[in-house]
Amino acid sequence: MSNTLKIENLQASVEGTEILKGLSLEVPKGEVHAIMGPNGSGKSTLSKVLAGHEDYEVTAGSALMDGVDLLGMEIDERSRAGFFLAFQYPHEIPGVSNANFLRAALQARLPKGEEIDAVAFYKDMYAKMDELEMDRKFTGRSVNEGFSGGEKKRNEILQMMMLEPKYAVLDETDSGLDIDALKVVAQGVNAMRSPERGMLVITHYQRLLDYIVPDVVHVMFDGKIVKSGGKDLALELEEKGYDWVKEELAAA
Ligand code: ADP
Ligand code: MG
Repeated sequence: MSNTLKIENLQASVEGTEILKGLSLEVPKGEVHAIMGPNGSGKSTLSKVLAGHEDYEVTAGSALMDGVDLLGMEIDERSRAGFFLAFQYPHEIPGVSNANFLRAALQARLPKGEEIDAVAFYKDMYAKMDELEMDRKFTGRSVNEGFSGGEKKRNEILQMMMLEPKYAVLDETDSGLDIDALKVVAQGVNAMRSPERGMLVITHYQRLLDYIVPDVVHVMFDGKIVKSGGKDLALELEEKGYDWVKEELAAA
């Protein structure tokens, strides 16, 4: 079984319009990859297709998680199998407290008949909230309801830290964060780096990558990865803008 998230020639459309146009990408366990790209290039579409969002239709290609077909699984199956997506626009779940949500998600991962240890659960959750500088009052509040943009992003990272996925995709987790919050979130993500985990960090700006230094940077444009390189590629993009990539493509 290969220890990698392997996406090959992925094509997907929404409401009849093709957005992903043959995207290929591989994130091995132990690595952090970044995807950068202009708005509208399909970054969020990729993340939602991987998570199993019902609005998106996969028309070709594959996504294998440790050799297992991710796209053939139900949404909750993907999550239980170790896939995690931190949404660009996190969902609100009125009436479900943050603590109960996390507890239910973890409970769902246990074999039938096993009960989560409540004391250990709270201890773990509080430790992780402290790391993210989140106030304890967020445990009792409905998931993301009335949270500020930055609070939602921290809460997504808390979910990731609690669920300990094999592969995590973070869709513009930096947007809406001030610099202090960005550093705290980046610290949380860096603490999750592990030989047992692959992470894909999607961002429009280079700034986040000052704090989460990626092993590989991919540039996405018009539904495809058009260029990949080391961390310096992010700096080059910041300096020259995305037009440079477009010009290079046009010339090729
Ligand atoms: P990015 O995250 O790179 O900014 P998106 O994946 O959000 O890009 O969007 C890519 C394109 O797909 C955009 O043109 C957007 O309008 C379109 N799109 C995404 N989701 C939907 C949807 N649910 N309905 C219609 N169009 C969509
Ligand atoms: Mg997006």
